[in-house]
Amino acid sequence: MSNNLIEMDKRHFIHPTSSIQQQQKNGAKVIMEEGDGIYLKDITGKWYLDAVSSLWNVNIGHGREELAKAAAEQMKKMAFSSAFSTFSHEPAIRLAEKIASLTPEGLNAVFFTSGGSESNDSAVKLVRHYWKIQNRSERRKIISLKRGYHGVAAASTSVTGIPEFWGMAGHMMTDFIHVDTHYNSTTDQAIASLRQAIEESGPETVAAFFAEPIQGAGGVLIPPDDYFPRIRALCDDYGILFVADEVITGFGRTGKMFGIENWDVIPDVMTFAKGVTSGYFPLGGVVVSETIHNVFKEKSLGTLFHGFTYSGHPTGAAVALKNIEIMEQGQLVENSRLMGNRLLLGLKKVKESLEIVGDVRFVGLLGAVELVEEPVSNKRFAQDQHVTLKAIEALHERGVICRGVTYDNTDIICIAPPLIINQEQVDQLVEGVYEAILKVQQQLGI
Ligand code: PLP
Repeated sequence: MSNNLIEMDKRHFIHPTSSIQQQQKNGAKVIMEEGDGIYLKDITGKWYLDAVSSLWNVNIGHGREELAKAAAEQMKKMAFSSAFSTFSHEPAIRLAEKIASLTPEGLNAVFFTSGGSESNDSAVKLVRHYWKIQNRSERRKIISLKRGYHGVAAASTSVTGIPEFWGMAGHMMTDFIHVDTHYNSTTDQAIASLRQAIEESGPETVAAFFAEPIQGAGGVLIPPDDYFPRIRALCDDYGILFVADEVITGFGRTGKMFGIENWDVIPDVMTFAKGVTSGYFPLGGVVVSETIHNVFKEKSLGTLFHGFTYSGHPTGAAVALKNIEIMEQGQLVENSRLMGNRLLLGLKKVKESLEIVGDVRFVGLLGAVELVEEPVSNKRFAQDQHVTLKAIEALHERGVICRGVTYDNTDIICIAPPLIINQEQVDQLVEGVYEAILKVQQQLGI
């Protein structure tokens, strides 16, 4: 059974974000078949603690009967019906209203998509549309952060600030600019980099600035506390829209409903996906401010020529509503904050008894552990030592799934377990991380 599946996988399945060569040589390393709470089981019967919520998305954990039931009920009643033009349906209306009630003040109108990339592509088009219908079509440039990840569709690949992702398209689209992130730099430097890009581009040509409240795929990079307030002020000074990509940080991940709320900043636009359905259905969206919505209403040139077949999918909307209800009833946003604090404390203790742990950081249940050759000077390992790979493998052996980030000569272990994690499970995770890093140290002869 297992060999058969591996052969079929090699022959027919092109994996997302994979080395096809490696896949052909080694085959799939793990084939999952079942999920329960924070755990996943593969086809050999081995259980894993899913410490990155699969793709940072399974916020309420695996195997939730209630979501299966919500999907089945909606599918039986009306699996799908269009939300195009003048058509609508109750699940999408209710979900839009629910999301508007959760987002910061003034963000009240929602455009639905099927995921994060579509959401960011839609946001690029919507902000340009906003300027165009006010006769400001020269405002079309999009500025975003280096090490930012915003997806892989045409525009979202270009918003992404990790050059590896631009390769397949041959180049980035024009009018996308990347500026220094706050990682390993001061707020002053990061703000100066944005200001310089705006000035050099011509402020009147810039449509929007995009940023993740915490850069996820870039290595869980948490900004200094004054960063986003100063970003907001700078955008206001130049009349530029601020788009917060909440695809990872939304829906409780950081101990707040939305990540940007950690800094009391209100963006003009928010994009979301992942945690809105905890991965039980592909769904995402863009929330725009009342101001933007009013411009759309008053100055529309007619049809909004943008919409996906599955924008506002009724089954997806029903799943999202149930998912949010479970989050609220189980106080999972609060749990994310509490368990995130416990995880941070536990991993800081781990740092004390190991030699190669550098920065340990968490906001809610979104965090990372950096591995460095010398924690005091923050000297990094040579990349040919493959420290991250060794750590991820050691974790895997112990039945813990984390995500490694190695861009720009870093060794970062990202940790983002489902928001339902409890104290004992946090301690189990801390123990697993400790043992795995200890093994890496032994392999490195430390
Ligand atoms: N934005 C952020 C911050 C993400 O982390 C991701 C995916 O990981 C995306 C956008 C793209 O979302 P999707 O993979 O659903 O297209």
